[in-house]
Amino acid sequence: MVSAATSGPKAVQPGKPGATDKSPDEPIPSRIVLAMQGVTKAYPNGRMALRGVDLTIPEGDFVFLVGPSGAGKSTMIKLLIRDELATKGVVLLDGRDLGRLKRRDVPKIRRKIGIVFQDFKLLPNKSVRDNVGFALEVTGAKRSTIAPAVDRVLRVVGLTGQAGQLPNQLSGGEQQRTAIARALVHNPRLFIADEPTGNLDPLISWEIIQLLLRINELGVTVLMATHNAEVVTAVRKRVVALENGRIVRDETGAAYHRED
Ligand code: ADP
Repeated sequence: MVSAATSGPKAVQPGKPGATDKSPDEPIPSRIVLAMQGVTKAYPNGRMALRGVDLTIPEGDFVFLVGPSGAGKSTMIKLLIRDELATKGVVLLDGRDLGRLKRRDVPKIRRKIGIVFQDFKLLPNKSVRDNVGFALEVTGAKRSTIAPAVDRVLRVVGLTGQAGQLPNQLSGGEQQRTAIARALVHNPRLFIADEPTGNLDPLISWEIIQLLLRINELGVTVLMATHNAEVVTAVRKRVVALENGRIVRDETGAAYHRED
């Protein structure tokens, strides 16, 4: 649950029932949000976009996905939202094997993911509030639950005062914050940001990154694909680097480029 709280304990409550009985020194295993095991993706034209990818993302992690154009970042994201299926290997989201889902279960699993893109993809004729609320409406949420949920995420992204405005009355940064609110409103298990600062100037990019870090502190697991080397290197989070469809580096507290 995302709340507007700025302090206090993290929303992530790792472990299982009874975890409090353990000795304080014993590490508590956190839950796995995403696991990719031996994932290969070949497109119908024979192009190999991913080759034997293994990746585990535990609850509460913040991961930068980096790599040159054509490395396979978008393909990885498409597998996660089940836009594409792996040719080989397994993709588990919250323990569910995406390759074995029944068609009718796909929308439910997609709701476990919140995603934002470089080009915000807002509905131009809907206000900020309605853009965010619509994401819940389509899931069949009750009207009475939508308004408080929308208010809560607008507070998180700092857009309470702009709730009635249309996207074309907002700055680029505000549009991206609206998209972030929309992606958060159904409490996703994994928040994916696909080059979220690609259309924003450096100062606004920093505001967006700070917001994503805060959302992560509130307990949301974040995977961000980016070319923004300055941001990645300054923030020192986990960096997963793809090259030619393979993970060539997976380091915590890392820079954009290999440092050794
Ligand atoms: P990135 O997001 O890192 O730029 P992509 O996942 O888009 O990388 O692409 C990885 C490789 O797969 C590239 O060689 C690209 O040309 C190829 N590719 C991507 N989408 C398709 C597709 N729909 N059909 C065929 N080849 C594709």
